[in-house]
Amino acid sequence: MQIFRTDQFPLPLPAGHRFPAEKYALLANAVAKLAAAQLETAPAATKSELMLAHAANYVMALFDGSIDASIMREIGLPWSAALVERSARSVGATIGAARSALHYGAGINLAGGTHHAGHSKGGGFCVFNDVAVAIRLLQQEGRIRRAAVIDLDVHQGNGTAELFQHDSNVFTLSLHGEKNFPFRRVPSTLDVGVADNTGDGVYLQLLDDALHTLAANFQPDLVFYLAGADPFAGDRLGRLSLSKQGLLARDCRVFDLCEQQRWPMVLVMAGGYAVPISDTVDIHLQTVRELLSRHHPKGG
Ligand SMILES: [Zn+2]
Repeated sequence: MQIFRTDQFPLPLPAGHRFPAEKYALLANAVAKLAAAQLETAPAATKSELMLAHAANYVMALFDGSIDASIMREIGLPWSAALVERSARSVGATIGAARSALHYGAGINLAGGTHHAGHSKGGGFCVFNDVAVAIRLLQQEGRIRRAAVIDLDVHQGNGTAELFQHDSNVFTLSLHGEKNFPFRRVPSTLDVGVADNTGDGVYLQLLDDALHTLAANFQPDLVFYLAGADPFAGDRLGRLSLSKQGLLARDCRVFDLCEQQRWPMVLVMAGGYAVPISDTVDIHLQTVRELLSRHHPKGG
């Protein structure tokens, strides 16, 4: 299994910015210490790859810096050439992880899951939709026909839903806080809204039902799992009340299903905004460690 990192391409953010950019290096350095893990530097997705999911004028305006200030405000990160580079690397990491999944059964991007990015604009800290670009590229190459997206970030996957709204070859499942961002939504194939302050028991029951619906109705060639750390009780933006044990049980539900069904699976991290940031890193790390414990480092 291959694991891709993007943290060597730093995000230049003003001091005090609320995006927790430091989580990526903390996570990658922690994963690098695991015996089974060997990390690879993410390649950058090319403009033409990005245009498989995004409008050409949106991609070009990001690269040449002519992007509208209003679009950057919705993304919530200041424009810089370094932001565009980092974002293209993050898409490349998910593409690499997807190729690893098709080869070894699983692959990991230690970032990614930027599910608020739609066809011609980003939003909510998301510039490009890494999962959507990877799906479109592998479909174009004839490597996959059908894909499923299991999005367990606490925020609804509106960008992914928009991009695959009319595509019956892609099943989008989003389980998210009903009252949380984004407030203008595009329907996924299956949306499950969760009430504020929901804890482990109810959450896991809703997840079991949703995974059952997916498996009963769809047979993907490849699964993308967005393992957001933001349903955690201590998350600033999450509004749910899952424990770390509950989040690990969540991950195991997804991993078990993919193993039973023999679905290759790509793990991407998505959101996490806990204070202290070490809680978010712990949650992502336990997800990665659990997946590694089920797979051999390179083969199998
Ligand atoms: Zn989120």
